[in-house]
Amino acid sequence: MTKANAEPLTAIFRRLIGSYGPISLLHYMGESNARYYADKDPLGSAGDFITAPEISQMFGELIGLWLADIWMRAGSPVPVHYVELGPGRGTLARDALRTMKRVGLEPQVHFVESSNALKALQAEAVPDAQWHHDLASVPTDAPLLLVGNEFLDALPVRQLVKTAEGWRERMVDWGEDRFRPVAGDKPMDAAVPDALKPADEGTLIETCPGAAAVMHEIATRMAAQGGAALLIDYGYAEPRTGSTLQALHAHTKVDPFAMPGEADLTCLVDFTILADIARNEGAAWLGTVTQGDFLRALGIETRAANLSSAAPQHAETIRRATDRLIKGDEMGTLFKVMGVAGPDWPQGAGF
Ligand code: SAH
Repeated sequence: MTKANAEPLTAIFRRLIGSYGPISLLHYMGESNARYYADKDPLGSAGDFITAPEISQMFGELIGLWLADIWMRAGSPVPVHYVELGPGRGTLARDALRTMKRVGLEPQVHFVESSNALKALQAEAVPDAQWHHDLASVPTDAPLLLVGNEFLDALPVRQLVKTAEGWRERMVDWGEDRFRPVAGDKPMDAAVPDALKPADEGTLIETCPGAAAVMHEIATRMAAQGGAALLIDYGYAEPRTGSTLQALHAHTKVDPFAMPGEADLTCLVDFTILADIARNEGAAWLGTVTQGDFLRALGIETRAANLSSAAPQHAETIRRATDRLIKGDEMGTLFKVMGVAGPDWPQGAGF
């Protein structure tokens, strides 16, 4: 765990670069986010960013309903495990588990979390959870009902850029008193798909080995154990090029190279690749839809109306939260929901 008096990451990176030359962006982003999440709670209005489950309880409730629905249609198998990747404050899990319990679904709870600060908050929200460093130690004996909201976007990416000399990995150097991206000197053409090899100079492609590895594990588990998974993230469902790296600090976009370890670094998630991996491992890809369409299909507007009539004094807050989650100019379109299930499991609602 990182201690408050640990050597600043800037100093560590500068020493590394001074001794060995530029570090890869993958290394820079991985170390920065590990430090960033290790000992603080970045969520909420006092933090750096806010997520869907923190905006409204309806988000976790509808996820819980989706899981309960597909579980019942799969024959209500017991035992069953609820698995959440990067549960933040545990809010989504608490809301989803409360909803699932109403229909008789009481899974064992497993959280995959690396941050000690967030583990402590998760233990308050869901006291009987078990924690894991990664999916590998999650039990293999029963189906998994798995959720990851804004988890994959925090995993480090590798970027390759086309230069006059060919494809190079994007590295991070120190110069003129700041970190800055530079092209590496090793040829990387072999890592680029054939279709992209002749691209124009300046073209940049991004891959996320961590997200691919997590998807591989989820799909393998779905194929072997059964279950269903929802992965929700800011991302794209058509292939694209260009850097999507961004940094948020105190709800404001900042230069990703300005304050490593102090800002949340994220990239858009490539849902096309994840769907391919899921299918290749023998899982069923249920679909990838926008968050707005998904939540509408699950009845968020009816749920909001019911909550408002039960508590008219909160109607305006509920309306505002619903808009934030589903409107096209807020989270409704940029966020995608991807569903994956065991090959013998039914189709999920909303896809
Ligand atoms: N799902 C929550 C939190 C999103 S923030 C929500 O929607 O509010 C990202 C979460 O992933 C945090 O809990 C963070 O600590 C965790 N995380 C980031 N990188 C991780 C890694 N490599 N392994 C495990 N957890 C990680």
